[in-house]
Amino acid sequence: MANVSLQHIEKIYDGGVQAVWDFNIDINDGEFIVLVGPSGCGKSTTLRMVAGLEDITSGKLIIDGKDCTRVPPKDRDIAMVFQNYALYGHMTIYENMAFSLTLRKENKEIIHRKVMAAAEILDLKTQLNKKPKQLSGGQRQRVAMGRAIVRNPKVFLFDEPLSNLDAKLRGSMRREIMLLHKKLNATMMYVTHDQTEALTLADRIVCMSMGHVQQIGKPIELYEHPANTFVATFIGLPPMNMFEGKIEGNKFVNELFTYTLNDEHTRMLKDYDGKEVILGVRPENMTREGNIPFTVTNNENLGMNTLVHGKIADKKIVVCKFAEWSTYKFGDKIKLGFNEEKMNFFDKETTLAIL
Ligand code: ADP
Repeated sequence: MANVSLQHIEKIYDGGVQAVWDFNIDINDGEFIVLVGPSGCGKSTTLRMVAGLEDITSGKLIIDGKDCTRVPPKDRDIAMVFQNYALYGHMTIYENMAFSLTLRKENKEIIHRKVMAAAEILDLKTQLNKKPKQLSGGQRQRVAMGRAIVRNPKVFLFDEPLSNLDAKLRGSMRREIMLLHKKLNATMMYVTHDQTEALTLADRIVCMSMGHVQQIGKPIELYEHPANTFVATFIGLPPMNMFEGKIEGNKFVNELFTYTLNDEHTRMLKDYDGKEVILGVRPENMTREGNIPFTVTNNENLGMNTLVHGKIADKKIVVCKFAEWSTYKFGDKIKLGFNEEKMNFFDKETTLAIL
């Protein structure tokens, strides 16, 4: 197992596209890091640079104390699991898992021990004599992980490993990956565009947009204290409600409503008096104790709670999440407020959180 340090890592592809800008992180031994962001933001490029599948244009990559910036992939002691796990169809599951060790001409007994240990961890012991096509999608993905585990690498890299699976299977595989991380206690980097996977799997999340790291932190930090409006709206589903407006003394004012700020917020925002800000409030932090007029358009019962969609002042679309099974109908009127503990303010010009 190992620490991994990415220092000022950048990637410019041939042709001049800069995919990654000044990426910095120190990953601790045994830490689970999830890179998340929309398609094209540079997640895979970053992971592939760690794997050695892409050259690093500039910056430094340190794995377990060793400078690996220019070290070939095979000497980095890293295993990568992809979305397209491409098992060898003519080989048994056992042979698939043993493949990299066989290639290395590893001793047969050692191979056997490692394959059986991985099969035990992944609950594949009864499947070892089968061919890949006899297995379910989830089992095949586990075999792909088994191939990585037998190599006992310093670092595991996962590139969207679950995106080929259906929603239900994704959920159960996500839990398996969590358990796998606990059992192996290995350093892992995991790429996904799915914010749910990021929130549930990560020790720390790296949220990216357009090649730039937006925020690095624990899931709860990104959820409760997003560093900017991008993270605020990317993390969390349904996304945070965002209201543009102006600070006027102790009031947040816009064309839809006027909201009286508490003393703490007024103090925090005193440099913004007369200036434009963005107020962000998550759907579950919308309350029914306030004076903001809201008209219901849709009521979505999810069993454990209800998403109520609607409009403020017939203009701004807002989503509220209420804890109970509610039965609002189109056209119902509610007076909304905000949970004061959970209001986020952003500088409109820079999009950065105001702290
Ligand atoms: P993500 O994994 O977040 O979807 P990628 O790392 O795959 O994003 O891509 C980041 C950017 O780099 C995109 O603009 C993409 O088009 C570009 N890119 C990726 N691979 C190459 C390549 N081989 N040559 C040129 N540009 C590339």
